[in-house]
Parts: sequence; C-alpha cells; structure tokens
Amino acid sequence: MSRHPIELRLSEEEKREHRLATQRRYYRRHQEEIVAKRVANRPAKREQDRLYRLAHLEEIRARRAVVYAAHRAERVARSAKWARANRERVRASGRRSYAKRREYELARRRRRYLANTEHEQRRNQRWRKTHLEHARAHRARRRALQLQAGGRGISPEEWRQVLRDSLGICAYCGRRRKLTLDHIDPLALGGRHDVENAVAACTTCNSSKHNAPLIVWLARLRRTARR
Ligand SMILES: [Zn+2]
Repeated sequence: MSRHPIELRLSEEEKREHRLATQRRYYRRHQEEIVAKRVANRPAKREQDRLYRLAHLEEIRARRAVVYAAHRAERVARSAKWARANRERVRASGRRSYAKRREYELARRRRRYLANTEHEQRRNQRWRKTHLEHARAHRARRRALQLQAGGRGISPEEWRQVLRDSLGICAYCGRRRKLTLDHIDPLALGGRHDVENAVAACTTCNSSKHNAPLIVWLARLRRTARR
C-alpha cells in the first residue's frame, strides 16, 4: 500500500507540471529573500564561475567550437549585419585596439620599409594615387589645425629661411633628404604655428613623429632601434 495514492495516478508529465507549479508558488512567496540571497552571493558565485572556467578551459573551448562550427554561416552573416549597422562602434573599437598595438605596428612597418624601401615607396605611391580623397582630407585637417593653432603663422619667407638654416639636413636624423615642415610641439597637442616651433624634417621622421610630443617620440625611437 502506497502512502501517496494520489501520486500514483499522475502521469510523468502531470507530476512535472505539479512540481513546477509548486516551485513557482514557492518562488512567488519568497521572491524577495531569494533575490536578496542571490545578490549577496554574487561575488562568491562569480568567483566560483571563474574557477570553473579555469579548470574546464579546454572543455569549454571545444564545446564552443562545436556550436560555432554548426552555426558558422549564420553567425558570420549576423556579425556582418551588426557591423554594417554599427559602423561607428566598429571603427572606435578598431581605433582602441590599434592604439594598444601602435608602437609595435609602427616598429614593424619601419622594419619592413627599411628592408624593402623601393618596393614600399612604389606601393605607397600607388596607394596615394588611388586614395586622392585621403590626401585631400589630410590637407584639410592640417589647414584647420593651423588656423586654430596659436602663434603668428609662418610666412613663405620664414619657411625658406628655416630651410636654408637646415643646410638640407633633417633636424632629427641628420640625413640629407627632401625636407618638410615639422611642428616641434605638434599642433594637435596645442603647439603654436610659428617659426620658433618649426624645424625642417625628412618625411620619414615627420610622419613617424606624427602627433607625439618630441620626447615621447625620441624615447620610442630608442626603444624600437634596440629591438
Ligand atoms: Zn629625418
């Protein structure tokens, strides 16, 4: 004789329903304390999860790979769609990531350039020819910066004098190259657009220094030269 005659008459499905209903009732009656307990337990739970992930790294990775492989095409399509709808966020994230790798990327590019200068120059020329709007935007940005910058401005005569004083030699690397105007204190960092803040620098030094403060750039050069 069973002590739970009612239970015997219930199907598995009905038992499950009954169990869930009981749980739901219990949850509704104790909702506040359950939530409070969960919140209080959150740091411990987080730590527990972290340890679990650490201990099951390979397993989790494998499981994820299986799921990913099964839904690869739709995932790729979804990511592409998201990226199209969130261009600005994608770009911002790209910029953040590049900022982190910047020194490394610049050093790598410099090595590649030095190892294969002619090839790289031809490639850059081709790129500039197909990206005229890029050069135009760059010039516009420079002009805007110069207009905003403090200082008296630099007259053509003053610039010619700087060039004569430079004796055709880059102020930074001392090489005899085609010389361009470099603002010692970059305009982008509030440097003044006048002759006291101007030197003649080769294009390599000029674009390598870019918007870095002089001291920061010199330190970077020394570090990358040592690699
Ligand atoms: Zn130089």
